[in-house]
Amino acid sequence: TKMAYYFGKTKTEGKSNQKQLLGGKGANLADMTSIGLPVPPGFTITTEVCDLYYKHKQKLPPGLMDEVRKNVAILEKETGKKFGDSKLPLLVSVRSGAAASMPGMMNTILNLGLNDEAVVGLANATQNERFAYDSYRRLINMFGDVVSGVDHEHFEVAFAKIKSKYKAKLDNEVPLEGMIELCDEYKKVYQHHYGKPFPQDPLEQLEASVEAVFKSWMQPRAVKYRQVENITGLLGTAVNVQSMVFGNMGDDCGTGVAFTRNPSTGENKFYGEFLVNAQGEDVVAGIRTPLPVAEMPKWNKAIHKRLLEIKDLLESHYKDVQDIEFTIERGVLYMLQTRNGKRTGAAAVKIACDMVKEKLIDEKTAVQRIPAGDLTQLLLPSFTPAAKATAKKDGKLLTVGLPASPGAAVGKLAFTASEAVERTHAGEKVLLVRKETNPEDIDGMHLAAGILTSTGGMTSHAAVVARGWGRCCVAGAGDVQIDEKARKIKVGGKTFTHNDVLSIDGSTGEVMLGEIATQEPKLSGDFATVMGWADKYRTLKVRTNADTPADAKRAREFGAEGIGLCRTEHMFFEGDRIVAMRAMILADNLADRKKALKNLLPLQRKDFIGLFTAMKGLPVTIRLLDPPLHEFLPHDAKAQGELAKELNVSPAFVKNRVAQLHEQNPMLGHRGCRLAVTYPEILETQVTAIVEAAIACVEKKIDAQVEIMIPLVGTAAELKMLRDQTQAVIDAVKEAKKFTGKLNILIGTMIEIPRAALTADQIGEQADFFSFGTNDLTQMTFGFSRDDINTFLPDYINNELLAQDPFQSLDVTGVGQLVEMGVNKGRSVKKGLKCGICGEHGGDPASIKFCHTVGLDYVSCSPFRVPIARLAAAQAAL
Ligand code: PEP
Ligand code: MG
Repeated sequence: TKMAYYFGKTKTEGKSNQKQLLGGKGANLADMTSIGLPVPPGFTITTEVCDLYYKHKQKLPPGLMDEVRKNVAILEKETGKKFGDSKLPLLVSVRSGAAASMPGMMNTILNLGLNDEAVVGLANATQNERFAYDSYRRLINMFGDVVSGVDHEHFEVAFAKIKSKYKAKLDNEVPLEGMIELCDEYKKVYQHHYGKPFPQDPLEQLEASVEAVFKSWMQPRAVKYRQVENITGLLGTAVNVQSMVFGNMGDDCGTGVAFTRNPSTGENKFYGEFLVNAQGEDVVAGIRTPLPVAEMPKWNKAIHKRLLEIKDLLESHYKDVQDIEFTIERGVLYMLQTRNGKRTGAAAVKIACDMVKEKLIDEKTAVQRIPAGDLTQLLLPSFTPAAKATAKKDGKLLTVGLPASPGAAVGKLAFTASEAVERTHAGEKVLLVRKETNPEDIDGMHLAAGILTSTGGMTSHAAVVARGWGRCCVAGAGDVQIDEKARKIKVGGKTFTHNDVLSIDGSTGEVMLGEIATQEPKLSGDFATVMGWADKYRTLKVRTNADTPADAKRAREFGAEGIGLCRTEHMFFEGDRIVAMRAMILADNLADRKKALKNLLPLQRKDFIGLFTAMKGLPVTIRLLDPPLHEFLPHDAKAQGELAKELNVSPAFVKNRVAQLHEQNPMLGHRGCRLAVTYPEILETQVTAIVEAAIACVEKKIDAQVEIMIPLVGTAAELKMLRDQTQAVIDAVKEAKKFTGKLNILIGTMIEIPRAALTADQIGEQADFFSFGTNDLTQMTFGFSRDDINTFLPDYINNELLAQDPFQSLDVTGVGQLVEMGVNKGRSVKKGLKCGICGEHGGDPASIKFCHTVGLDYVSCSPFRVPIARLAAAQAAL
């Protein structure tokens, strides 16, 4: 069989569909060559040869080197260069390339072909002796390390000696004589440790390198990578041998990188930079400032023209923006690489729309092209990339926490919610910095420019609340030590006070010093176009998690098709409602509790009328009270004293009651439907408020579609009892109001306890709908506290025990089974039972794909994620 496939002007033997045989890189090099791109010629040794190598006790198959020699001969003829030549030597790179991308996992050797003769040739050809010897010593080092197993350390020791001899601090300060000496030293190191001299015959170098690449296929990190990425069924790696070109042989040479369209705005304009007489590394190292490609005609008109032709060719061939690398050697342009270009969210939207207009792609392709998560960049302010890059370069990055709620915020530090409120009212911009937040901090969180916490995970209070508002939040930044009393924080050994300004990036979790410039989002017509396409192709509905009419209205503008979760407890922290709420909780007898509830009822009714009105015609899921009651009470003596005064009871009474309500494990304690079991009057009040609100809406001809949701159910018996109570209240309110019209009220439950998923057929008998509360379901399935996971999550990620935070992206393998089981069991007793998800995963694209697959009817997410969910749902359906 044929073992090597040539690519070049002489002939191109491979095809783009031969990835299995030639590897991704080999097939792509052949493809680029055959569409007429000027690719430095070379050849690809097939993956079959790698397979043979392992089948025959790790021996290169007979005949391989004959084929290699033949291909090298063609290569020499085509390039006019010769292996080992002292005038114009042929140098090649030797790289691995399997059918699946395995970045950095296998071996590469550059500058192969250099020897004592060829180094003179390279010096002549480049007119740069130092560069030639520098290339040579790099080859000896790389070849020694990768091919012959000579530890890199030994070369480092030799280099350090030369550097001290020439009083050079940096590598590039070593003069030519030093480099020549270094090559000799490296050859000695090689011989000493390997037992044989560094091979002078380029073909011998090549044979050994090919074998080294095959060997690297089975080295532990590559094997491990394939395991983790689930890459199976491959024959092995191919080997690409490609002639090297140099952009630093004189003023008719150069090198550059470019995008076929602007990757930050999407504008259809060639965008790139180049340097005359330089190597790729010079562009990257930033030693010289490159010129924009638009200025290339001043240097070489013909090459610029050719580059533009190639740009069009590439886009019409790959039908996507390309990120290219090119080199000009002695007036000849070479393409070294092309790949799909990374782009900002805004650019992705514009490019997708433009390419549909240009008939390069169709709508469905366009919808799939845009990474759904990147849409947040279009909806929220962000740091300007340049300002952020500068800040990071200047060492302003202090630490990185969890990217809890996207956006960019800048402000001075405020240490309590009340401080944040006061200083904001006084005209300052502040960041609220807390260990963690709790419902009492709501005012300060709402007014602050951003929120930074040192503990807590992606579903901690701060994260959930901030996401709901679109407020920027970095959570769980464990490196930040907060001293609330002294009004200081310490991070990275530095201390900052209430007068220092920080910038936080909620999309990345970065915490930076100083004020970094931000930019406001601009919504283009293209955004609406993309959303229209998404709506056309998706089957999942998208609702929002919203607690107030204002949030509901905004979510509706973003395209929400209802409320999937209204956490009623969030309504109790506004203004002085908390007083009535606390009076209710502190009541130690039924009569007092009922009196307090009576005060709450009209407030709740008004809230619900507002929500039903904002969402008229669309379903609104209202969840009955869920959190443990003690969360609503003040915990320090001073605040308890004030509350006692307000309620006209003794401070000791408040203190006692708080102690009584204390729980070791509140998240597994007296919360959710268990509250309604103990205090039926709470359920009664909330349901009364809901039904009265629904009736008020009907009377105003507002179409209210109500879904009452009972949280944290674990048994069918719980749900049956509470459902019957709920129904009884509905009937009683209708009766009392003498209402004879039709109300649309469903009674359903959350599936957020593993037992509920396991017994979803029994529970389904009692429910009009299921909503999967995947925050609690994840917490209870893993046994990971959602509020404390950040203390160990980094170790789990670093040790690859978890691929990602399971509170951010649904654990499809484990928690997902419970969701799937819940849906199937529920629908086994009630055909077509309405099922949705309201945990934070409802806004995560990967989780949305899963929700689509298991047949949920809708996902529900925070308002700012609604567009993301619409797009992700379409992508899941296509
Ligand atoms: C859940 O548990 O997934 C949920 C939505 O409820 P909460 O986050 O309020 O506990
Ligand atoms: Mg929950």
